[in-house]
Amino acid sequence: MKPFDYFSPTDAADAVRGVAGNPGAVFLGGGTNLVDHLKLGVVGPDLVVGLAGLLPAGIEELGDGTLRIGAGVSNSGLAADPRVRERFPVLSQALLSGASGQLRNMATVGGNPLQRTRCVYFQDVTTPCNKREPGSGCSATGGWTRYHAVLGASEHCIAVHPSDMAVAMAALDARVRTLGPVGERTIPFVELHRLPGDAPERDTVLEHGELITAIELPALPLARRSAYRKVRDRASYAFALVSVAAAIDVEDGVIVDARVAFGGVAHAPWRAYRAEEALRGAPASDRSYRAAAEAELADARPAEGLDGGNAFKIPLLCRTLTATLRDLAGEDPR
Ligand SMILES: Cc1cc2nc3c(=O)[nH]c(=O)nc-3n(C[C@H](O)[C@H](O)[C@H](O)COP(=O)(O)OP(=O)(O)OC[C@H]3O[C@@H](n4cnc5c(N)ncnc54)[C@H](O)[C@@H]3O)c2cc1C
Ligand code: SF4
Repeated sequence: MKPFDYFSPTDAADAVRGVAGNPGAVFLGGGTNLVDHLKLGVVGPDLVVGLAGLLPAGIEELGDGTLRIGAGVSNSGLAADPRVRERFPVLSQALLSGASGQLRNMATVGGNPLQRTRCVYFQDVTTPCNKREPGSGCSATGGWTRYHAVLGASEHCIAVHPSDMAVAMAALDARVRTLGPVGERTIPFVELHRLPGDAPERDTVLEHGELITAIELPALPLARRSAYRKVRDRASYAFALVSVAAAIDVEDGVIVDARVAFGGVAHAPWRAYRAEEALRGAPASDRSYRAAAEAELADARPAEGLDGGNAFKIPLLCRTLTATLRDLAGEDPR
């Protein structure tokens, strides 16, 4: 591991100054992703700025019903919060589908959406990878693509974003609060992550030294009827092949409103606006759910690969969305 200095800031502003003032500095949240990358040589910072104890570690309810979740809240703490379980079951389920109990105890709400891709070539420093080393090439293209993108990829990178929590946040119209070198800002969660384009080394729109301080969940009554379904190669401790976060409001057999996002298919959590549009006003039936999936996946482009490629993700996602919505549209839990 490359040696680095460690800095313990006094508060969040001090942490921002510590990273913003040094191009080779990084924040350390729970460390469950960053420390692996330090060991593997995927990243080699000069300075690591610790966030332990600096960020809000509680969940505050605002006057309009918004839940403001401090970036220091653990993934376990968020999943277990009674308000989250009751009002946003999709979020609790997404968190509990990820990693293991021990990892969720360490992982933070600020660090989770900023975890890096699990593309095997990104983590193998002996192989070319445009995300790790811009301009070096993409080893996944024509390589092992089972876990790679079918939506929004580019010739420079076909990796997918790995976070389960982020898929639920994208579906729930969440907002990200940050503190950066020029002050605070709020970013719609769906705009946090980038598609790779010709700059796959940039995962998000955050500036260097911009700290996530909280994530806000606005009140969304239909999210009481929501769910996360994750399809993976083994039942636990595995990343998604595909996943669906969905919330639905059905009255008299007709879909009044819906929120849908996909995971495991793109460089960002994929908010399925076309599917939502197709669902609104449609009968709550398998035919409608399939039509919604097909509308969203019309532009999907599978990758060929040494392992047979990932074309299977398209029908798999269609079936996963259908099954999720069918379950949700059953008995009304309210
Ligand atoms: C074996 C294993 C299995 C896993 N399985 C899953 C899974 O199935 N699903 C899933 O979603 N995740 C999974 N994970 C990933 C895990 O959820 C993430 O590692 C974790 O959420 C990252 O949070 P952290 O606080 O530890 O981040 P860190 O590792 O500390 O940081 C991650 C990145 O975010 C930056 N950062 C951290 N906090 C902030 C902040 N507040 N503001 C700005 N930048 C910040 C760091 O600089 C770093 O670049 C798995 C991890 C492991 C090791
Ligand atoms: S898919 Fe992206 S992360 Fe994976 S090797 Fe290609 S450039 Fe690197």
